[in-house]
Amino acid sequence: MGDYFQTIVDLDATEREAQECGARVLDWLIAEGIVAAERTDCVLGGDGYGHPPGPHFTKAVGDLDPVDLWSNGLHIQTGRTVFDSGQGDVGAATCPLCRTGIRLVDEVWEPIESAWEPFEGRFHDWAEGGEGIVHCPSCAQPSGIDRWSWEDDAYACGHLGFTFWGWAELTSAFTREVGRRLGGHRTVLLAGKL
Ligand SMILES: [Zn+2]
Repeated sequence: MGDYFQTIVDLDATEREAQECGARVLDWLIAEGIVAAERTDCVLGGDGYGHPPGPHFTKAVGDLDPVDLWSNGLHIQTGRTVFDSGQGDVGAATCPLCRTGIRLVDEVWEPIESAWEPFEGRFHDWAEGGEGIVHCPSCAQPSGIDRWSWEDDAYACGHLGFTFWGWAELTSAFTREVGRRLGGHRTVLLAGKL
């Protein structure tokens, strides 16, 4: 099965509020029995410790198949992070200002070097506390790389992410509810394999 993960990334939480927002959603997940309160070594990210599924974890996945991997916990990541689905080459990036999709691979799915140029080093810059300014090749306007969106949600920049390791597919109703509990913040769902 591999080490499958899904991360709900909060696109709006600021550095200051990430911790509190994460704690609020965790309290709700525990109260609903979706995850257990005690942390065990059940995840592959971070320090290896996370919250294992609770008695009512199917509320999140709508799937009765029990999760039988050892790495089946929830890890909450706070702090400035470039979340990565680990899926390899990404097809396109979309400018937050003009909504133009910038093609990043050719017809045989090889990365187009010149297309990547405006993005080069920007994730790193943003992760280090910079703005990661990208000048859009289409409209020429500058915007932070954290505002760009990526085909198949390959990347997301944020200060708060909920990573579910080894869970069946999270339902859209569940991810919407998480967004609502985050105070109506925008979220994206990254799905990937290690
Ligand atoms: Zn643009």
